[in-house]
Order: sequence, then structure tokens, then C-alpha cells
Amino acid sequence: MEYVIIGSGVAGIAAIEAIRSVDTAGEITLIGSDPHGYYSRPGLAYYLTGEIPDKVLFSIRPEDFQNLGVQPLHGTVKRILRAEQYVELEGREYVHYDRLLLAVGALATPLDVPGSQFDGVFKLDHLTDARQIVKNAKRGKIAVVVGGGITALELVEGLVARGMNVHYLLRGDRYWSNVLDLQESKIIEQRLMQEGVELYYHAEIAEINGNQNRVSSVRLKNNTNLQCDMLAYAIGVQPQTHLAKESALEIDRGILVDEYMQTNDPNIFAAGDVAQVYDPLLKRSVIESLWTPSREQGTTAGLNMAGRKKIYTKSVALNVTRLAGLTTTIIGTVGQGQDLDLIGMVRGDSETWHELPDSTVAQSGFDVNHVRVMVGKQTLLGAVVIGNQTLSNPLQKIISNKVNISSIREDLLNPKANIAEVLVRFWANYTGHKVKVEQRTIPRNLHPVKPSI
Ligand SMILES: Cc1cc2nc3c(=O)[nH]c(=O)nc-3n(C[C@H](O)[C@H](O)[C@H](O)COP(=O)(O)OP(=O)(O)OC[C@H]3O[C@@H](n4cnc5c(N)ncnc54)[C@H](O)[C@@H]3O)c2cc1C
Repeated sequence: MEYVIIGSGVAGIAAIEAIRSVDTAGEITLIGSDPHGYYSRPGLAYYLTGEIPDKVLFSIRPEDFQNLGVQPLHGTVKRILRAEQYVELEGREYVHYDRLLLAVGALATPLDVPGSQFDGVFKLDHLTDARQIVKNAKRGKIAVVVGGGITALELVEGLVARGMNVHYLLRGDRYWSNVLDLQESKIIEQRLMQEGVELYYHAEIAEINGNQNRVSSVRLKNNTNLQCDMLAYAIGVQPQTHLAKESALEIDRGILVDEYMQTNDPNIFAAGDVAQVYDPLLKRSVIESLWTPSREQGTTAGLNMAGRKKIYTKSVALNVTRLAGLTTTIIGTVGQGQDLDLIGMVRGDSETWHELPDSTVAQSGFDVNHVRVMVGKQTLLGAVVIGNQTLSNPLQKIISNKVNISSIREDLLNPKANIAEVLVRFWANYTGHKVKVEQRTIPRNLHPVKPSI
């Protein structure tokens, strides 16, 4: 059997591991266009701030690929010849497949304003982008950052850490409004202002001006002019569907796959940020732009490609990240509706978070320690934990295992209740163990789930 994997991200690597766990003899070719191969994309944020050197991003060595019997091929696939079962690389090289996996990810949505072609305008997709941003930050003093969500904030923090003065433009009236509530947005914005970041609300770029082909200022739609040495944007991501589209595979916003990660061509599978996966519970196809689901989808695709029938079951959406220096865990369904800053999905985001659940909000917190839970009829549907992470593990379990919380429902909904205390007591009773209160925030999450090789 000849397996071809396009894309050396976490979905592609997980698929390879899964194939090998079933088929030790088949030939596996991994085609990737990123010259740096596999590395932690969420970790790029910590490289930007200078907290880690880039070598820490790499968790797989070339000999690991050898041990797995993988043939790595650096290049870009430009066409799939479905009838003949070949892929064509740039340079007219052809590789045959019996089973093909498209794990080509998603790329930043381009900033569609005049002047976006100038030098000094950046997005953050790959290590190459991160290196360019770091290099440019050394040359300048003032940066403009555009967009909501995690990646825009990572750009803000990276540039502040590199000594730049940052103007942060939000198209709406607060930060990440489709996931965070008003209080949570304000916690983050307050921290940014303390770091010296200047926030602009209802701010949209009309044009980028340049000097000798290099960005020199931006003009906002309200005619404010901001001088700047660089501009970085993160307004959304676009699944890379063009290969699939050109070969007449079914696509919507992503490549449409069933629960087996199989496209409408039985020999072609898709996984990760590019895949829009059928969810039998929701009865519709969903995109998750998260690291852990990408890995799990890759594993499921790999097993099915090698002949093991395995259904992908979407787990409760979970993201542990850092927002303005605060460890933040987002679990399950917490949605607030629309976010003007974002065009569709953003990185580290799940469509699940945007759905307004049939639930009531209970929250408590002060300053940087904050807990919000979405209370359903008998279970918790979602939670946001900012700062102290004592409750994040218990909440993950309560939500994923659909633990019946009827006994504390009224307490949670009492406006005077200390939600954290109610939950700590509940968890202690439920497990028979006391919750250990963590005094520090949990360490950064470079490789949210490391591949096992
Ligand atoms: C800055 C940043 C921060 C993030 N933060 C978080 C976070 O906090 N939490 C979280 O859960 N997720 C986060 N993510 C998202 C997470 O990294 C992605 O969900 C995950 O990496 C998707 O993996 P993938 O394998 O589907 O795609 P990718 O990792 O994008 O890999 C796709 C690969 O395919 C290659 N490729 C594309 N087209 C071709 C072609 N035609 N031929 C050959 N190769 C091709 C690309 O070069 C790339 O290497 C973040 C991502 C970024 C960039």
C-alpha cells in the first residue's frame, strides 16, 4: 500500500503514527511545503516574546521519521490526478498513492486594504513569518496590530516584549467578543493598557501608506493617521481548500469529510484545520481550528486509511492559552455571538464556542482570577477560567463527563454565590478528594499534545 500525506503539521504527523500502528509494511511519503517541517505552531507565540529559542519548537528529530519508515519530501503539491491516483508537485514531480491524506491546514485571511503589499506588513502562519517579525521589530519602534482572537493578541504581546510601542486596532467595541464576555474582555484590555498598549475601538484601516515600498503609516476610516514601522494582522484563517476544489472534491468552508475523515473520494481523506467534519450529534459539518482536534482527526484518518474502521468523535472543545499574560482555559460552549474583528474562524478557536447554549451564566472573580460557567439543566456546558487554574481540571472533567450538577445548580445561579467555592466543594464531595489549590498559573502549553514519536 502506498500512502501519501500532504502537510507536515500535527494532523499529518498523527496520521503517520496511526498508519504505522496498523501497517508496518506500507510505503509512506510525507510531502510538506514548510522548509522547517514539523514544529509547534502554538509555540510561535513564546518564540515571538523571546521566552524560548526556536529550537524548543521542534519535538521530532529526522531519525524519528527514519524509525517510522517515512519518506519525507520537501515541496508543494499543485494538483491531484484523481483518476490516475497521482499527486503532482511543483517542478513536475509525480508521486503515486493508494490512499491520500490532505492535511494542508489553514492560512491567515489576507488583509484586503490598499497598501497591504508593502514591506513591513505581516501575518503569523509559520516559523518563517515569526522570524521576519522578530527581525523587523529590531528595526522599528512603533507597530500597529489588527484583529481579535488569540493570534492578534500574541502579536501584540510579542511586539511589546520586543520593545515596540503597539497600537492595537479592534473593529468592535471589545476584545474577542464571540468567546469572552464583557468582564473577561475588560480584564484582558486592562492588562494590555498596563503594558502600555494603546487600544482603538471601532477602528478600521482605510489604507496603508508606504515610503520606498515600506509601510510608514496607516489611515483609519475615521481619518486618524498612525505612524508605524510595521503592521501585523490576524483577522481570521482560511482552510486551504484549493487542491480539493480543483480536483472536484466536495468542499464547503473546509474539505467536507464524514466521521471516518473520508472525502467523497474513498481513497482521499482530510484532517486538521482544513477539514470540515460531520458531527452526528449536531447533524452538520464543523470546523475546529485547534491543535488537539487536528491531532485526533489525523489519528482517525490514519487508522481508516490503513483499513481500521474508526469514527472521529468530537471531544469537548478545550484550549489552554495565555491572554495578556494570564493563563486562560476555555472549555465547551461559552459563546457570545458575533465578533466584528474576525472573519470566520481564528486560530485556537472552535465553532463550538460560538454557539449560544441553552444555559444560564454563573460567574465570579476579581481582578485576574475569574471563573465563568454555563449552567445547563443538569450539567455544565462550558467554562472560562482566567488566572488561577485550580478549577480548570475539575471543570474539564465535569463538562466532558456530563456530571450531574443538580445539587449545586441553585447555588451556582445565586448572584451572591462564590462560584469557585461552590465548585471546589462540589468536586471534593464528588471525588472524595480535596482540590489542591495551585498558587501559580500552569506552565505554558507549547505542545498542547505532543506526538508520541
Ligand atoms: C500563531 C499560532 C497560534 C496558535 N495557537 C493555538 C492555541 O493556542 N491553541 C490551539 O489549540 N491551537 C492553536 N493554533 C492552531 C493550531 O496550531 C492548528 O490548529 C494546528 O497546527 C493545525 O494543524 P494542521 O496539521 O491541520 O495544519 P498545519 O499545522 O497548518 O500544517 C499544514 C502543513 O501543510 C503544508 N502544506 C500546505 N499546502 C501544501 C501543499 N500544497 N503541498 C505541500 N504542503 C502543503 C503547510 O506548509 C503546513 O506545514 C495556533 C496556530 C498558530 C499559527
